[in-house]
Amino acid sequence: MTRASAQFKNTRTGRLANIVDGQSLFGTRSFANINPVDGALVCEVSEADQQIVDQAVNSARTALSGAWGKLTVADRCALLYRVADKIEQHFDDLLAAEIADTGKPQSQARLIDIPRGAANFRVFADLMKTADMACFETAGPDGAPIYNYALRKPIGVVAVICPWNLPFLLLTWKVAPALACGNTIVAKPSEETPSSATLLAEIMLDAGIPAGVFNVVHGFGPDSAGEYLTAHANVDAITFTGESGTGAQIMKAAAEGIKDISFELGGKNAAVIFDDADFEQAVAGTARSTFTNCGQVCLCSERVYVHQSMFDKFVRALKAEAEKLVPGLPFDKHTTIGPLISARHRDKVLSYYQLAREEGATIVTGGGIPDFADKRDKGFFIQPTIIAGLDEQARCVKEEIFGPICHIAPFSDEQQVIRLVNDSKYGLAAALWTTSLARAHRVARQINAGVVWVNSWYLRDLRTPFGGMKSSGIGREGGLHSLNFYSEFTNVCISL
Ligand code: NAD
Repeated sequence: MTRASAQFKNTRTGRLANIVDGQSLFGTRSFANINPVDGALVCEVSEADQQIVDQAVNSARTALSGAWGKLTVADRCALLYRVADKIEQHFDDLLAAEIADTGKPQSQARLIDIPRGAANFRVFADLMKTADMACFETAGPDGAPIYNYALRKPIGVVAVICPWNLPFLLLTWKVAPALACGNTIVAKPSEETPSSATLLAEIMLDAGIPAGVFNVVHGFGPDSAGEYLTAHANVDAITFTGESGTGAQIMKAAAEGIKDISFELGGKNAAVIFDDADFEQAVAGTARSTFTNCGQVCLCSERVYVHQSMFDKFVRALKAEAEKLVPGLPFDKHTTIGPLISARHRDKVLSYYQLAREEGATIVTGGGIPDFADKRDKGFFIQPTIIAGLDEQARCVKEEIFGPICHIAPFSDEQQVIRLVNDSKYGLAAALWTTSLARAHRVARQINAGVVWVNSWYLRDLRTPFGGMKSSGIGREGGLHSLNFYSEFTNVCISL
């Protein structure tokens, strides 16, 4: 047993439970949660069968009309504040859970993932308190005044389906606004990272959130908890983060019940380094945007375009940064890059390293697996990799790889690079490096992506719209966008 799994009250004989109506439920089947740093078992996880998913959805439905549904907005928000406080009290437990599941360097989980979990609850509680709708007064045909106002109501039972790359951060990013709006939830974390969601269910109960308001079911997608949940007739809305192909499957399931959907999907994001960029800043920023979380952030840059005047120098500098990264164990203070999430995902990324060779790429650095000659060789580490020389239509330039790899290519002028950036089925994020304010504004408005960073990457103000264009998503979350997705509105129109 690792330190993380030992924390859970809701495990029985080392099995992570489904949390339904405040109770631990165990199905007949279970699956292994594997630690990516050494391939060791973190814990067994109970897979939710159709009956457990039914119970979870029913308990969420019942909780809507119980004590939770009768709370004022202020009381609901006070509870969300308590959840944030409890997240901070359980900081070390959550950190251990997240690290055991993902193998990411502890500095990353400590500085970003867990604090963002608490911040999500506080920010959306604050926003909810001031999210009143405007009232409109006008005159009817007879000249009598007409007064309109909209009531904000919960949608009902929300299914929250999450990926494994930022498990706690992305889960709370959806759960906090959904609860702020008064909904109830059945969450399905990724099968690769089930622990922090289970711990959050315990934290919620401890904070006083009524049983049934937040339920967690474990399992996979097709023929498992994911499919049972998204196809469930009693689910009103689905919020999903994951691959675009999975989004398409879920959309079909949602169509049957005309469920509301919000999708945050894949990307093939570009970084553009103009000739007037601060060179050192652009190199450091691009190394971060390519290799953070071992390239497993939907916002990572997998296509890097550098002005031809500095291309060779930039390639050498980025190569040096990639080679400085120290793969290792999460709690080793020298570690700067962790493993990929699973053997299966490493096989996928390695198949792209091989495809790059077959497509004729130059391997600037990396291209394989590090050799540690210790227990880390049983983990899913992979070398940070830079490739060059591919045609823009090559699969390695077009398809999302979701690993520590970028293709780097030169460009000659602004309009050409804008065309290259936009020539993608995805439209999630882009990073521009330039010291020209006019160019930054001019180019940003021509990029077809949900987020454009200028001289920065991965900075987030939680009130701003977040999401992707084209195959990168449907809708926006963040700030009022989240609150509006997780709400229904009744407009009341009165002739005075
Ligand atoms: P995935 O699509 O394989 O799985 C995501 C979740 O969906 C998991 O919980 C999985 O069990 C579930 N699932 C799979 N098939 C399902 C089905 N048919 N019905 C219901 N549920 C199903 O994605 P992943 O590999 O976990 O995550 C990586 C992907 O997520 C990448 O494409 C990445 O770009 C994307 N992502 C996007 C954002 C964003 O904000 N746009 C953020 C993080 C990750």
